[in-house]
Amino acid sequence: MFPYLNFHAHREAVSPRETVIRNVLLPLSTEEEDAAVNAGNPFSAGIHPWHLPASSDDALRQLGRMALCSQCVAIGEAGLDKCCTVSFSLQCDAFARQLGLAGERGLPVIIHCVKAWEELLAIMKRIRPGTACVIHGFRGKPQLAENLLTRGFYLSFGLRFNSESLRLCPPERLFLETDEARCSVEALYHTAADLRGCSPESLNMQCLQNLYDISQNAKK
Ligand SMILES: [Zn+2]
Repeated sequence: MFPYLNFHAHREAVSPRETVIRNVLLPLSTEEEDAAVNAGNPFSAGIHPWHLPASSDDALRQLGRMALCSQCVAIGEAGLDKCCTVSFSLQCDAFARQLGLAGERGLPVIIHCVKAWEELLAIMKRIRPGTACVIHGFRGKPQLAENLLTRGFYLSFGLRFNSESLRLCPPERLFLETDEARCSVEALYHTAADLRGCSPESLNMQCLQNLYDISQNAKK
């Protein structure tokens, strides 16, 4: 059996039964950057809207370097959050630039979005990275899920989710993740599989296939 894919977590695997795409939040010190690149495990890297420096230039240069590394499977989490105190125009600028970088490198984008869907869609329409975009930690209602799915987004569900939205997401657009939780992703596969009327193993195989599909454009 393949280990369960944990699409987005801020830690290493807690059990041999899961494979984690560890999320690395920039900016990092030089030592931290070296450690992430040399660890040999798959990771995603991005500048989170909560942690934006006053100028994103250095962090974007760092992201450009890290995105060249073969273990970097996605840019993000990046996005917009209207519930944090960071300047919204800075958030929009950093998000747009990260989308541009994802497009240049052919990498998928992991998106964090809180109460800023309209602005997010407007920026995406302007930048169009041309790579897969995954809304992570999706908790929205079915109407929002359907709207995003129609526009081509993938949805990654964490420990808190709307059951109906999880049920309606097509298998080829779905991921599961634990984000900041310490627990293994395995229990979530069981819950999600029960809701969707399939086995956890087949759901995992589908998520692994989805990861393969969205990774096909990478230019390293
Ligand atoms: Zn996260």
